[in-house]
Amino acid sequence: MRYRLPAPLLGGPSLFGLALALAACDGGASSTTAAGDPRPARARPLVVATTPMVGDIVRAIGGDRVDLVVLIAAGTDPHLWTPTRNEVLKVLEADAVFMNGLMLEGRAGESFARVELSGRPVVRVAEALAKSDLLTDQANPSHFDPHVWMDPVLWAKTAPAVRDTLAKIDPDGKDTFDKNLATFETDAAALDRDCALAINTIPFAQRTLVTAHDAFGYFGRRYGLAVRGIQGISTESEPSLGDIEDLVAKIADERVPAIFIETTVSDRTVRAVVDGCAARGHELKIGEALYSDSLGRAGSPEGTWTGMLRHNAKSIANALGGRG
Ligand SMILES: [Zn+2]
Repeated sequence: MRYRLPAPLLGGPSLFGLALALAACDGGASSTTAAGDPRPARARPLVVATTPMVGDIVRAIGGDRVDLVVLIAAGTDPHLWTPTRNEVLKVLEADAVFMNGLMLEGRAGESFARVELSGRPVVRVAEALAKSDLLTDQANPSHFDPHVWMDPVLWAKTAPAVRDTLAKIDPDGKDTFDKNLATFETDAAALDRDCALAINTIPFAQRTLVTAHDAFGYFGRRYGLAVRGIQGISTESEPSLGDIEDLVAKIADERVPAIFIETTVSDRTVRAVVDGCAARGHELKIGEALYSDSLGRAGSPEGTWTGMLRHNAKSIANALGGRG
């Protein structure tokens, strides 16, 4: 069947005008909007996701019933991401938008709110979770930790909101989305068991995970690891020299065997901690790079959410004296 645009979208002059204005600034790079109609009839709904992890859920539930555009490229830090004009146009064109929320995409700007004003769904998947499931940011107690994809059980709880929204914009697909949700939940449960098995091989005294920034709070809570980040919850915060010295002292005292670089964060501060430990006579190894705020390259095993977390669990276990 031909996909029909929801009624409010067809009569939204302010959004339409904004999209045209943006297209005009864009040097005609977008053929759809340059032709004058930002919202052509489509065979399938156009769905936009911000991070690769959110895109992974939408792909898993939506399958080939939706055209999915993931805005933030693999390897890009979502805390620092600002949408380009073309990305803003994509958001304005979308039939539904999925974000992580909890301020992960802190520089996303106003385009998402404009889509919401038009009556189309903008789903902040992490904000669908119960507040009691969330960790708070110790540096900003009024903020929640947005890195919920690090706990497979928690992340799976965000998937029903994705199913509900897709079923709203494509009611004929509901049975498919229900089936895909069940598969996603089964896969998440298997992933959870694999992560627990890997982390449980680490000797108790070595269950401390030190990384470039505080992205692993939910992972640590789920699998029983103490977690320390050099930077805070957001990579926008810079650690002071004093912060680094304090961390070096703790790591050297506790004889933590390894520290981890993240694929989306500069390794500069990690190397400063390694050097600091060496000066105190403690050799701190650097483990395999972890995927924190992005997936690996599309097509690689780490290019999916399950592959990303399996890689992380294995690498952490191996570097901390377990068997991943
Ligand atoms: Zn982060």
